[in-house]
Amino acid sequence: MFNALIVEKDDEGVTSAGVQQIDESRLPDGDVTVAVEYSTVNYKDGLCLGKGGGLVRNYPHVPGIDFAGTVESSDDPRYAPGDKVVLTGWRVGEAHWGGYAQKARVKADWLVPLPNGLDTRQAMAVGTAGFTAMLSVMALQDHGIKDGPVLVTGAAGGVGSVATAILANLGYEVAAVTGRPETSDYLKDLGANQIVAREELNETTKRPLEAETWGGCVDAVGGAMLARVLGQMKYGASVAAVGLAGGAGLPATVVPFLLRGVNLLGIDSVMQPYENRLRAWSQIATNLPMEKLESMIRPAVLSDLPALGREILSGQIKGRIVVDVNN
Ligand code: NDP
Repeated sequence: MFNALIVEKDDEGVTSAGVQQIDESRLPDGDVTVAVEYSTVNYKDGLCLGKGGGLVRNYPHVPGIDFAGTVESSDDPRYAPGDKVVLTGWRVGEAHWGGYAQKARVKADWLVPLPNGLDTRQAMAVGTAGFTAMLSVMALQDHGIKDGPVLVTGAAGGVGSVATAILANLGYEVAAVTGRPETSDYLKDLGANQIVAREELNETTKRPLEAETWGGCVDAVGGAMLARVLGQMKYGASVAAVGLAGGAGLPATVVPFLLRGVNLLGIDSVMQPYENRLRAWSQIATNLPMEKLESMIRPAVLSDLPALGREILSGQIKGRIVVDVNN
């Protein structure tokens, strides 16, 4: 028997979440059984824990879109008992039972061996949000980051915090956009050189182009802010579009693409091929200072999750929540 946070749906379609003791025979099919050590709370988890079950595709369900732990048994030659592994994506925690449990059974293809230099807790302090931040920085570098500050929107959140720390550590000047002025010191400690107030970029303008300001951008917010940022990018610069914390619409014009050659790069962490995941995790272990990662962590346990799901949807979480599933 082991502990799991189970989401159930009643006959009226109302969902509820609670910690239960369940038997291993209830785990879904898969090649590898993992003794989970840590998971996290991402925006998608907030949706799955919330009213109506969000992205959950089957009930009862164990949410948790990422986890890190130790292989307990494996039918796949790539993994042996005792191996440390990390998982993000592949609709785990949505269509397949996820990381909010002391055990998980998944396809071997979805796993990545933990890179040297990261333990399971650190891997989940990074989690899906930080992994996506790394993919974003890699995409910007592949397209060339121009002179000038790199903008990070939603900077005090999970993606934004890790992106800020990685970019600063790589030597880029970072401008961090936040709607919470009280997080300024935290963002400066992560390496931000400049704090930009959210309101400055949320104001709409009729001008499709403004002064060329940003050499690149990791955007976790979308909506009106992304539209405004596109018109402020330097010639040929790129925006890695990650999220929609500020809205799914995009009230933009094509002018920044036509007259400034701006690149809008969509970042999807879910279906990344194995080689890309391996490369990103190895870059994280190399380029993310662990003392900065520590400053982002808020610890939690399984029974905290329903409340934390509501909190992340309200945009109030600072940094990364690390869930110790064994406490
Ligand atoms: P968080 O909730 O941790 O961070 C989001 C941040 O956005 C908040 O902390 C806040 O930052 C800012 N924000 C929130 N609401 C608004 C608003 N209405 N207008 C402007 N800014 C706002 O979430 P994550 O960092 O984990 O994820 C961010 C986004 O990225 C989400 O939409 C998520 O679904 C998406 N995502 C996408 C992935 C992919 O594969 N493409 C993977 C992971 C996440 P501040 O207070 O500093 O302003």
